[in-house]
Amino acid sequence: MPSPTRPASKPTGLECRMAVLGADVRLTPHRREVFDTLAASTDHPTALDIFTRIKDRSPGISLATVYNCLDHLTSAGLIKQVHLERGQSRYCANLQEHVHFHCETCGKVIDAHPAADFDPARFWILPKGTKVTRMDIAIHGTCEACANK
Ligand SMILES: [Zn+2]
Ligand SMILES: [Zn+2]
Repeated sequence: MPSPTRPASKPTGLECRMAVLGADVRLTPHRREVFDTLAASTDHPTALDIFTRIKDRSPGISLATVYNCLDHLTSAGLIKQVHLERGQSRYCANLQEHVHFHCETCGKVIDAHPAADFDPARFWILPKGTKVTRMDIAIHGTCEACANK
């Protein structure tokens, strides 16, 4: 039964983001569900985490479909893929300039935003003539909860 509080025409965060980025992605219900689930998560879930979170709401969705949706959303620039540990991709819906703090004790991944306007080309001595298109920086250490143990 369609919910009267969520009309289909109401623009979602995903649609706003697509308009801003000029992204051209066909919005299937599964892609929308995967995006909404990721956008509501702050813990940088893996594909399996996302699948676990939506499989009750979206019966019929498979892990392969979740991977497929994440691939599409990533290549359209709507979300980011985060590589921190061997063989395990995590995903992030935060498109603001940020780096990832990875707790090596509990595995938690926390967004860290720059304290000031940050120009990587001025902070690091990059090879001559190069142009930065994106940054993929991770800082590893111990989170507050683990440090207090
Ligand atoms: Zn992030
Ligand atoms: Zn920790």
